[in-house]
Order: sequence, then C-alpha cells, then structure tokens
Amino acid sequence: VPEETHAHAVRPDGPLRVAVLVKQVPLAENLELAPDGRLRRDGVPLEMNPYCRRAVSKGTELASLSGGTCTVITLGPPSADDVLREALAWGADRGVHLCDPEFAGSDTLATARALAATIRLEGPFDLVLAGRSSTDGETGQVGPEVAELLDLPFAGGVRGLALDGGRLRLRLEQDDGSEEVETSLPAILTVAERLIEPAKADEDRRRAVPAGRISVLTGRDLGRGPWGSAGSPTEVGAVRLLPHEREGIVLGGEVASQVEEAVRVLRRRGALRPRQPAVAPTAGLPAGPAGATTGSDEASDASGGAGPVAVLLEPGRPAVGAELLGAARVLADALGSSVVAWRLATTPDAEPPGADEVVELVAASGSAPRGEELAAEDVATALTARSREDPPWAVLAPSTEWGREVAARTAAALGAGLVGDAMGLDVVDGDLVAAKPAFSGALVADITCTSRVRLVTVRPGVLPLRRTAPRAARRSRVAVAGRGRVRSLERRRDDDVEMLARAEVVIGVGTGVPPDEYARLRPLAALLGAELGATRKVTDKGWMPRSRQVGITGRHVAPRLYVAVGLSGKFNHVVGVRSAGTILAVNDDPAAPVFAHADVGIVGDWREVVPALEAALRDLDVPAVSGHRAPAAAAG
Ligand SMILES: Cc1cc2nc3c(=O)[nH]c(=O)nc-3n(C[C@H](O)[C@H](O)[C@H](O)COP(=O)(O)OP(=O)(O)OC[C@H]3O[C@@H](n4cnc5c(N)ncnc54)[C@H](O)[C@@H]3O)c2cc1C
Repeated sequence: VPEETHAHAVRPDGPLRVAVLVKQVPLAENLELAPDGRLRRDGVPLEMNPYCRRAVSKGTELASLSGGTCTVITLGPPSADDVLREALAWGADRGVHLCDPEFAGSDTLATARALAATIRLEGPFDLVLAGRSSTDGETGQVGPEVAELLDLPFAGGVRGLALDGGRLRLRLEQDDGSEEVETSLPAILTVAERLIEPAKADEDRRRAVPAGRISVLTGRDLGRGPWGSAGSPTEVGAVRLLPHEREGIVLGGEVASQVEEAVRVLRRRGALRPRQPAVAPTAGLPAGPAGATTGSDEASDASGGAGPVAVLLEPGRPAVGAELLGAARVLADALGSSVVAWRLATTPDAEPPGADEVVELVAASGSAPRGEELAAEDVATALTARSREDPPWAVLAPSTEWGREVAARTAAALGAGLVGDAMGLDVVDGDLVAAKPAFSGALVADITCTSRVRLVTVRPGVLPLRRTAPRAARRSRVAVAGRGRVRSLERRRDDDVEMLARAEVVIGVGTGVPPDEYARLRPLAALLGAELGATRKVTDKGWMPRSRQVGITGRHVAPRLYVAVGLSGKFNHVVGVRSAGTILAVNDDPAAPVFAHADVGIVGDWREVVPALEAALRDLDVPAVSGHRAPAAAAG
C-alpha cells in the first residue's frame, strides 16, 4: 500500500459517498482552568483537530477522484460551525452541524450515538473517515464506537490507502509498528498524521462559505436520545492541572564549565538518583483522587458482591498484560472479587499471573480462515455476550489500537461507560475512579462510570509493576464466530510500546543530530540507562520509528530526566515531556525555545557537549549513573 494515495491506487466501482467526522478543539497552548475547576472554553482559540484535518483532506480527495461527494459532520457548540466552513472551503460538498444545548456534556459514547444517528439519517455512505484521536480528549474511542453502533468494519490509524472496487487495502500505523489489512466498503477508518497533507483554509475563505451549505440538526431531529450528559455513562469528577514550572537556568561560556554547573543542578534536583519503585496501589500520580483508599473495608462493603474484574490480554504483549493483571488484582482484592483474564487461544503467552480464571477465545469451526487470528471485533462480540450474561464489575484493556477497538466496541454494544487511556485506577466507595490525562497530560481528570459494567483502557507502562502470586486458575473456552471482515495481511513491530514509557531517562533527539551520528549519543545513553525519543521532524524523516515521537501527536513520557539534544523545543514537542522530573536542554542557539521549557540549558554544539557531559557524569560516584538497561537501538 503506498504511503500516499495516488490516483492509480483508487479504482472505485463508482462515485464514493464519503462522510468525515470532525472535531473542534481548543489550541492546547492556551489551556486554562476556570475557577470552578472546569476547563475554560470561552475566549480560548479553537481549531480543527489536527488528525481531522487529514480526514477531511483524504475524504475530499477520494470524493473528487471518484466523482462522488464528501459530507463533513461535527457535533459541537455554535462555534464549531467554523471547522465545517474550513472543510467546505477546502473542497467538501456539504456540512452537517449537530448543535443543540441537549448535546452538551456528551461523553464519547453519547457523541458516537449522535454521530451514528446522523450517518443513518444523511446516508447511505460508502466510507466514514475520522481522526485517530483528538488532541484534547485523546481517547480514540469515537471511531470504533460509531463502527459498532452501525455494525461496520473498522481500521484505525490509516497511513496508506488503496481502493479496488469495493476492496480497501490499508496500511495502519500502530503503537509500535504497522499492519497491513484488507477490508471492504462500507467501513469506518480513522486516519494517522502522515496519510496526507492537512486541510487548511484561512479565515477569509472560511467566512466566504455560504451558510446554506451547512445544515443544523438538533437532538429532536436525530430521535429520542437521551443525548448529552443524560446519555453519557461516564462522569467527570475533579480536574487537576499538572504543574510544570521549570527553573529555566540558561548557562553560557565555556562548555566545560557549563557542563559542570549543569551536573550540579541535576544533582541538586535529584535527577541522577533512581526513583523509588512505586508501591502505591494507584499509578503514583501527583494528586490521586482525594480520600482514595484501595483495600479498605468500606470499599468491599459498598461493592455489595461485585462481579469479577476482567482483563483483556492483547496477543504478543505479555508485559502490558502483567501490568493490567496486577492492577486488576488490587481492585479485585479491594472488592472481595476475582480476576478473569481473557485471551486468544492462538497466542499462548505465559500463564497470566494473578488471574483466578482464564477465558480462552477460539474461532468457531469454519468461521475464521485457518491460521488467522480472531479480529478485535470478534473479541468484542464474545466479551459483550459474556458481559450481558454475567456482568464483570470492570473490564481493563490496554490503551493500544487493539485494546481501544475491543473496549470501545464492547462499551458501545453494552451502552457502558469507557474511560480511555487511564494512568491510575482506584476504588472509592465501591466505585472505580480512573485518572485520565488530557491535553498531553497537562491536566488529569477523575472519571467514573455510571453503568453496571465499567470499561477502562490503561496506558501501557504507567501502572506500577506488581508481583502477583501464581494461582491455580480455572480455565474455560469460548467459541466465537470470526466475521473475517478485517483481514490482517502483515504485521510488523519495530519497537516496544513500553520501553519509552518505563524509561527513567530519555534523550530526546531533534533534527540537530543527523542520523549517521546517533552512535555519538550511545555512551551517554548507556551511562544513564536512557531510551531515545524524537521530535516529529525526526520521525517524519524516518530517522527513528514513529513510536519514538514525543509530543502532542506522539507519546507523552514522564522520565526522571529528559535530555533534549538538538531540538528546538516547540510547544507541540515539549508538551509531551511536561511530566518529566527534570529537563536538561542542549542547543547551540541561545534563543531556542527549548530553554524556556528546561530546568537547565547548555548552549553549545551537542557534539562537544554530549561527550563532556558523559565524562563528567562518569567521574561522579553516583550509583544511579550506571546504565541499568541497554539504550534503544537508534534507527538510521
Ligand atoms: C499539529 C502539529 C502536531 C505536532 N506534533 C508534534 C509532536 O508530537 N512532536 C514533535 O516533536 N513535534 C510536533 N510538531 C512539530 C513541532 O511543532 C516542531 O516542528 C518540531 O518538534 C521541531 O523538530 P526539531 O526540534 O527536531 O527541529 P527544528 O525545529 O528544526 O530544531 C532543530 C534544533 O536543533 C538545533 N541544532 C542544530 N544543530 C545543532 C548542534 N550541532 N548542536 C546543538 N543544537 C543544534 C537548532 O538550533 C534547532 O533549535 C507538531 C506540529 C504540528 C503543527
């Protein structure tokens, strides 16, 4: 599949009717909390979510290549009209604005229900496109939830697309690799950043779009609902802005003396001492839900015979599975309940630790082609059926492409609440409170589910690793009919999603470091036990895998020490290291923005600074400064 669609890669049967789902988001740079602790939305500049720009661009391209139409749909306040105008100015044919105070407070499921109802009303469509996630919510749930509600196949993170008749061949960008799949129209796809150039139109062009090209729909037009917060099975509790003050010391003069002073600052800040292993039952967030008492008697009393805590084990990710099982064990013990692990029978990873029961999914005979795994949607079907018969108290899934699809489909089918990308879990008064970051971790909200079954996807690498005693688990098998709607042709993993997440030290590499010189970073990386991260420019050039990208459309990392080398420190990058303990920046431009986001900065050529820093740290008798793990192998 080509990285970009070319005219020859699109050979449709006829004109394509494409729908594109778009979202308006606040510019993350201007984020603020109002005195009531809610996110301030008034007066904050708004824009089209960056991923949605790609969906619009691809949707209009496919419509024009096939002689079809592109309809753009958004749900949002009156201001969201602007993103429809932008899409229309770019080349879309029609806009539909779901605008009604009744929609206020919609969570992802309520949003997905309204969007699915609109697609039914305005359709039929051959293809529905959406962004892979939004920069404010970052759940990536709406796409697969809409797919479930409309009973359509789904593929997430599309980076390359070819169409032959009704067959789609897609290259998907995943958390730490890529996959090539085949499916057929109609389908729902979410798009990755590098699929195509983003749709953009300036204010004059947006204003010039005639109002008549946008239809406004209210809740009543879509049906009985309930819409908005009344139809949302999740509730937002306390919201905390995470502090991110930096010392901002910018050094100067001789490199040797700068390095000496920088090391002094690092020592003073404790940036060279390994962190204590987390032992708390939550993910060790700076401010957990107030009064949370996992394991208290009150918790188990309040639960009143809670169902089991179910854990979804993704094939090929035993470490991520172990994190989830450890968290599930703590929750189940607090509730006096049990842990059920769900896994595919075809991927016999090691025995799941800490589970009381293991459910293995097998393809019902004759359903899935031989040797083929059950797809995420098949797993969701099985989980939904079991959850209806014997509801679990909660379902924990990894926050990966696979986990998000299974959880989102299950949540949509059950009408249950789903918290995406949680970083901490707790039992409070018998309820599950999940800490969910938003805006690249700039803020964290406590979310609870009001539904009987609570679903959570958990970010890999952030929960404390626990030792769970092995137990003799009961086993059962569940046969599922594989629908075979999305066929995996090839899967490649070029990284491990947990390496960056768990790294105590990350060296962030910008375009100031050419790839043929990465070897020069190795001694420092080895000494610090550091993993390499990168800017978007670096991953765009293919110098490092995309899974190493740190920033608003990349990963968010929280190492003890982040060393920024040869990167300018644009907001969209540094927001991804907001939770780092200490930031050291190395740049030869004293005016580089990175210095404002660092605790200490060395002005100089990294080729000189990095070896000097390594030598200075090696001379220190600090036990922490001895590599405890191999540095990441740099590509390029
Ligand atoms: C919607 C959107 C999303 C984005 N998402 C992300 C994201 O997730 N992550 C991300 O990183 N970016 C993201 N970006 C891009 C971001 O805005 C910046 O363009 C990018 O981070 C810059 O990469 P860079 O610092 O490597 O390159 P540059 O900005 O080109 O900086 C290179 C730096 O290297 C320094 N340098 C050069 N040679 C040397 C030397 N010998 N010694 C020391 N220093 C040297 C230069 O002074 C310069 O400051 C996004 C942008 C947009 C619009």
